[in-house]
Amino acid sequence: MKKSYKIDVDCANCAAKMEDAANRTPGVKEAVVNFMLLKMNVTFEEGADPKAVMQEVLKNCKKVESDCEIFL
Ligand SMILES: [Zn+2]
Repeated sequence: MKKSYKIDVDCANCAAKMEDAANRTPGVKEAVVNFMLLKMNVTFEEGADPKAVMQEVLKNCKKVESDCEIFL
């Protein structure tokens, strides 16, 4: 399953940090952040609950970049 989320982040460097944090989150198969479009595309692992996984993704992103936001 693949979903797209609107994000807010101040620069490409922080966007890359968000992408790393998302990819390290269990349940995420692949996360790709597009800084130009301010979007995060997430492919979820088979059987993962996107809502629950994205709560963790948001937590992990906030740890590396407190100013970022993912609009869930
Ligand atoms: Zn930044």
